[in-house]
Formats: sequence, structure tokens, C-alpha cells
Amino acid sequence: MKNKKLGLNTVCTHTGEIKDTQFKGAISPIYLSSSYAFDDVDVKRYPRYFNTPNQQALSKKIAALEHTEAAMIFGSGMAAISTSLLAFLKKGDHIVLQNALYGGTMNFVLEEFDKYGIEYSFTKSLDSKDFKKEIRNNTKVIYIETPSNPLLKITDIRKIVKLAKKHNLVSMIDNTFASSVNQLPATMGIDIVIHSATKYFGGHSDILAGAVAASADHIDRIFQLGKNLGGSLSDFTVWMLERSMKTLGIRVVAQNKNAMKLANFLEKDKAVARVYYPGLKSHEDYELAKSQMSGFGGMLSFELKSDYDVEIFFKSLKLIKPSMSLAGVESTILSPAKASHALLTPEERQKQGIADGLIRFSVGIEDRKDIIADLKQAIKKAKKGK
Ligand SMILES: *Cc1c(COP(=O)(O)O)cnc(C)c1O
Repeated sequence: MKNKKLGLNTVCTHTGEIKDTQFKGAISPIYLSSSYAFDDVDVKRYPRYFNTPNQQALSKKIAALEHTEAAMIFGSGMAAISTSLLAFLKKGDHIVLQNALYGGTMNFVLEEFDKYGIEYSFTKSLDSKDFKKEIRNNTKVIYIETPSNPLLKITDIRKIVKLAKKHNLVSMIDNTFASSVNQLPATMGIDIVIHSATKYFGGHSDILAGAVAASADHIDRIFQLGKNLGGSLSDFTVWMLERSMKTLGIRVVAQNKNAMKLANFLEKDKAVARVYYPGLKSHEDYELAKSQMSGFGGMLSFELKSDYDVEIFFKSLKLIKPSMSLAGVESTILSPAKASHALLTPEERQKQGIADGLIRFSVGIEDRKDIIADLKQAIKKAKKGK
């Protein structure tokens, strides 16, 4: 089916699906072969070549969702990120990266790039002027992530695209937090759109996967390296991911709605010092977020006031689970200072604006009243000096 005129949920449900011509079953059959005949196709089929029937089918859906010509599926978000970066960077090249990035991406750059002789700079802020300052003669790639983790800061995608075009750079975005439901970077001119499909694409906290969407030329370049690095996803998991993505649209819209209502609830609560959610008018980037996102997403962060004990708050939650990962249908919560950003020094955390009492909240699809009731009872128990 052509995606041009199809709505989001129709694309999620149908685009790319494999017809079961043998038995006329309702869903895509799963092809687990790791070996295909040599002579009946123009490209040799092999799972590590990213071209099995199920890989190709799901790639079509992801490309349709992101409004790009092509897509590729990887064994993890980090496989998608590392392969994309190395595909466009060689010895002597330079990359400008946003300062607030997913920890794994940061580690990849800091721990590996020196080995390959790739130069890099992190910006001072998310302001496009700070990106411009870091561009050198040998800069080849500009890399952003918006909304950022965990403070949900927003980078101006259109300004970054303009800068990239002016300096002839390949622009890349980690679109995981927004998901294709809320943000379409390729329609704003971004070259390479990357996802940790472990998050909203998977959506049920049971799949590790990654995806990249871009023009056919860019995808071919990433493929040329990807086949050598070998980071493809097993076809069984590809098939699981296709099933998960059928509900991507309705899940994320439900999470948007819940997150907006919860952000409003938390902002009014006397125990809460600050709420970070791009859909709140009080968020410093609200107008920018509105200009480039069609929904504000299911991620928010908040700080309890100092007379509340964060540890007791966490322990008192009954419905909302503490969890390292995010974006599942279940609501989960995490302390960045104790988990995702625990390896940073307190000074580095402070510099990034991550308070020790900061709580990152991945909003699920449960009934709002139940989530709010759970938050209320845990906040009550966390009050110090009772
Ligand atoms: C989780 C995550 C990643 C890494 O994905 P994996 O699937 O864990 O490899 C990259 N970027 C963001 C924003 C993430 O949340």
C-alpha cells in the first residue's frame, strides 16, 4: 500500500505487511530462514544484509512513518546510532554534537572516537548559535537529540537544518523521545532520523531494537558499513516489533494525553518544586516545541521540594514502577542522579541542571485517575518530619 494518503494508524497497522498468499492469514508471515536460494533474487538475501522479507517489510513501515525513502532496522538503538555515525565519519573528520545526549551515545563518542582519529565537539547549549561556534573546516556531521533526556529541552530542528545545509553537513537526529507520532524531522530537512526502537516503537518493554530512516542514498551508505559491523536484528524480533508498531499511533496519543494532564496536576501540587514538560506554557521552550512537534510526548520530569524524601516517594509507589528504561505502556519512574546519570560527578550533574531530587517519569497508558492516586499517596508518605 502507498503511504501518501494513508493516515498514521493505517500506516502503523498495514504499511509494509507481507501478504500470506499461501494461507491468506491476516498478518505478515514470519520468515526465519538464514539461508535463501542464490539465483532467484537480484540481491542475495541474508539476515546480516538487512534484507530478509520481514526486515524489508518493517523497514517500509518505518520509512512511511518518518516520511523518508528508506529505513533500516538494527539490533539496538546503539547499533543504529554507532553505525550511522561511523558511516559518515572517517579519520580526520569532525562532528558537532549537542551537549545533552543519551548517555550511551555520549559514551560511544568519548570512549571510541579517539581510536579512529575522529574529532568531536559538544555544544555549550542547545542554541543553534552554539552549534555554529563549534563548526570547523573538517566538520562533516551535526548531531542532535530533541526533546532531550531528562530535562526535555528542545533543539530548534529547522535552525539546525539551515546550519547543516549552509556548511554542507549531514544532519542526524535521535528522534526516540518524540517518536514519529509527534515529530517528523525529515519533513523539516534532517538527513538521518534515528530511533531506539526499544522505546516507543516497541512500547511494551520487551524488545531491544533500533532503526534509521533516511533517503535511499544515505541508507545505502549506512548499509555498506552495517553489513560489515553486523548489527542486524533477528527476524523473530523484527516480527515482534512489527506487531508492536501496529499500536504505535494509539499508544503514543494516549501517552501524550496522560502526560499533559499529569504535568498540569504536578505543576499545581504543593509538594512539587518544578515540572519539565514541553507541553506546559511554563516550559522555556514551549513555543519552539509547539512549532515542530504535533504532540508533546509521554516523557516528563519533576522535582519534589526539599521537605519531601525522594527515596521514600519511590518506595511508596504501588502502581508506577521504578525502571531504567522508558516508553512502555506502563508508567515508570527513574532518578537520573541515581541511575541514568549516576556516572557523572555531582558537579557535572549540576552543570547540566540535573538536581538530585529530579524524577523522570515515563507516562504509560493506564487510567489517569489511578496514576494520580498513586502519585498522591506516595507524595503524602514522602513528607519529611511528620
Ligand atoms: C534508549 C535510548 C537509546 C539507546 O537505545 P538502545 O536500544 O538501548 O541501544 C538511544 N537514544 C535514546 C534517546 C534512548 O532513550
